[in-house]
Amino acid sequence: MNTSLRSTLALLLGISAAAAALPAAAQQDAPELSAAQHAAFQSCLRRLPQEAAFRSVRAATFAQHLAAVESDASVLAMLGKQPEFTMYPWDYIAMLVDEERVADARAALTQWQGELQRIQARYGVPAHIVVAVWGVESNFGQNLGARPLLRSLATLSCLGRRQSYFRGELAAALRIVQDGHIAAHRMTGSWAGAFGQTQFMPSTFLRLAVDFDGDGRRDIVDSVPDALASTARFLQAAKWQAGQPWGYEVRLPAGFDTSAAGRRNKRSIASWRAAGVTLADGAPLPADLPQAALLLPAQKYGAGPAFLVGRNFDAIYSYNASENYALAIAHLSDLAAGRSASTDFAAPWPTQDPGLSRAQRRQLQILLLARGHDIGAADGAIGEKTRAAIRAEQHRLGHKADGRPGQRILRALQGEGLGE
Ligand code: CA
Repeated sequence: MNTSLRSTLALLLGISAAAAALPAAAQQDAPELSAAQHAAFQSCLRRLPQEAAFRSVRAATFAQHLAAVESDASVLAMLGKQPEFTMYPWDYIAMLVDEERVADARAALTQWQGELQRIQARYGVPAHIVVAVWGVESNFGQNLGARPLLRSLATLSCLGRRQSYFRGELAAALRIVQDGHIAAHRMTGSWAGAFGQTQFMPSTFLRLAVDFDGDGRRDIVDSVPDALASTARFLQAAKWQAGQPWGYEVRLPAGFDTSAAGRRNKRSIASWRAAGVTLADGAPLPADLPQAALLLPAQKYGAGPAFLVGRNFDAIYSYNASENYALAIAHLSDLAAGRSASTDFAAPWPTQDPGLSRAQRRQLQILLLARGHDIGAADGAIGEKTRAAIRAEQHRLGHKADGRPGQRILRALQGEGLGE
C-alpha cells in the first residue's frame, strides 16, 4: 500500500506529519511574488499541457480551469515554512481527542448507522474506526480547507520545490473535475492539495475514492456516504484485518527493557505475555492480536502510556504517516465505541502541565482577549499571535515563557477572575 502522498510530502519537506495534519491556524501575511516569479509561473503554466503527467487531461479542460489562474504566494510561503513549534504528544492528542469530538463521533455513528453498517460489510472496517478518521481528518466534514485546489496546485507545480510531485497532483485534480466527480469550485482544501471530507490528495482519490451513494459520481466533498466509504476503502487497501483491534493500552512490569519498543518490531502476544506485559488494568493480554509491537509515544520525555499495536494500527498510520496521528484516531475510535470511558489514558503523560481540549483553547483565548491581547477571534486555533500573548502572560506570572497553551497558564489566568 502506498503511503498517503500527503504524508510523504510532509516527510520530504521536513514538516512533522502531526503539524501537517493541523488546521492552518495563523497564516502569515504572504509575501508578493517578484516580477520574475510571476513571469516564470505564466510561462510554466503555458508549457504544462505538453507534459506527460497531463496526457489524460483534455486541452479544453486545461483551458477552462487553468488558463486564467493566478499564482498564490501564500501557498509558496507555506511550502518554505519550517515548523517553528513542535507539539508534545499530550498536546496533540488532547486537542484531537476531546469531549466535544467524542460526542460528535457518537452522534455520527447514530446518524450514519445504516451506511456505516453497509460500509463495514463491504470493506471489513468497523464503523467506529471510519468515523474516528472522519473526525480527525475534517472534524466530521466541517473543516475541509478553503483554498482553491487548482490554484494551489498550479502554483506549487510551477514555483518552489517538488514541482514534479505537484504536477502529478494537479493533473489528477483536473481529471477529477473533467470526469465530473466534483465541480471545480467545490475543490478546495489544504495548501498542499489535500481535499474533501477524507482529506485525500487528488492521486489518492483517483486510486481509491468510492461512489457509495450510487449517483455515479465519487464525491468526497458533498456526499458523506462517498467520503465514509472512501476512507474504509483506503484502510482496506492498507491491509486492514477484519476482526482485529488496533491494539490496546498496556502496563509494563517494573524494570522492563524498553529497547524492544517500535511500531515495526512486532512479536507474538505469547512473547509479550511471557515478558510480563498486561492490559493497563492488570488483566492478561487477550488473544485477538496475533502479532503486536510496543508503542511508547512519550519515551523520549520519560515514561507515559504504553500500547501494543497490531497491523490495523499500521493501516491507520498509512493515512498520515504519524504515530501520534494514528494513536489519536485509535483512541477516538475506542471512545466512540464506548470501549473507553475517559479521554485520558490509564497512565499519565510525563508532564506536570497537560494539554488543552479545543474548548479549553477557546477559554484561554477569551482570557487573553480580556487582558487586551490582540489575538483575533477566540476560535481555538493557536497561531503566532496567541502564542506571543501566552508568552507575555507567562512572563508576567513568572512561568517559563515558551508560548505553549497548557493547563498551567489556563488555570493561572482563570484564578485571576478576569474574563470568566
Ligand atoms: Ca456518489
